Amino acid sequence: MEKPALSLSRNKKYTSKNTDIHVHLIDTHCHVFGPQFSEDVSLVFNRAKSAGVQNSLLPNIDSESIALICAVVENEKSAKPMWGLHPCHVFSNWKEELSKIEPLFETHPAVAVGEIGLDFYWSKEFKSEQKEALEFQLNWALAKNLPVSLHTRDANPEAIEIVKPFAEKGLKGVFHCFSGSFEEGMEIIDFGFCLGIGGNITYKKNPVRDFIGRFPIGSIVLETDAPYLAPVPYRGKRNEPAYLVEVVYELANHFSLSPDEISKTTSKTAISLFNLGLS
Ligand SMILES: [Zn+2]
Repeated sequence: MEKPALSLSRNKKYTSKNTDIHVHLIDTHCHVFGPQFSEDVSLVFNRAKSAGVQNSLLPNIDSESIALICAVVENEKSAKPMWGLHPCHVFSNWKEELSKIEPLFETHPAVAVGEIGLDFYWSKEFKSEQKEALEFQLNWALAKNLPVSLHTRDANPEAIEIVKPFAEKGLKGVFHCFSGSFEEGMEIIDFGFCLGIGGNITYKKNPVRDFIGRFPIGSIVLETDAPYLAPVPYRGKRNEPAYLVEVVYELANHFSLSPDEISKTTSKTAISLFNLGLS
């Protein structure tokens, strides 16, 4: 017999030890392809399904990761590709890279354009190219009627400035691995985008923890960003979609909602945003 999920009083802490999750989850951003997963990728997806993760969305990096993603999605129905050029991989040859990526939308239908964005943390050398490549790919998304998965690091004001006019034209998407102020988060939500929340919300020093519970839960989607940013208690290890449940428990505590309520609401948002066609 299943035990009821909402068995704890509002002020108790939810953990995987005292509550089960009965609702399916969507990992809206994970890199389960490439060398970190070459030995055990099918086991990783089996564990994901056992943990209730019905879909894992795989954002592309550059032209070299295309074959890796294709190999995974051809064997694993729960994995869905996104096609785009990651901002850390935007160099002077970005147009050539995009010309290699765009045909994939025809051969391997994508759930989003991603991962695209701006990253001024690692390097500002190709700042103007990053902005151009972002706009170019935002236009792809509008033309192809797809949402976007955005990566922004040390670049929220610039990214918001570029993305907002597209949102006003109807573009949807997610600021994946959201980091920023409450005001930035609300501005993003107000123009109709979602915030992607992952394992680093379990890190005690993450400033987003101070105000995450004030965002509307209907504008949040879950992600692992595997193999990076493994949640506590796996911090420092390789991350994988099955660990998404730890993000659910963390959010349940911040929002004073049950893990099932967090799962149900975030999955509904993700299914609608990425048109996953699940019930
Ligand atoms: Zn990513």
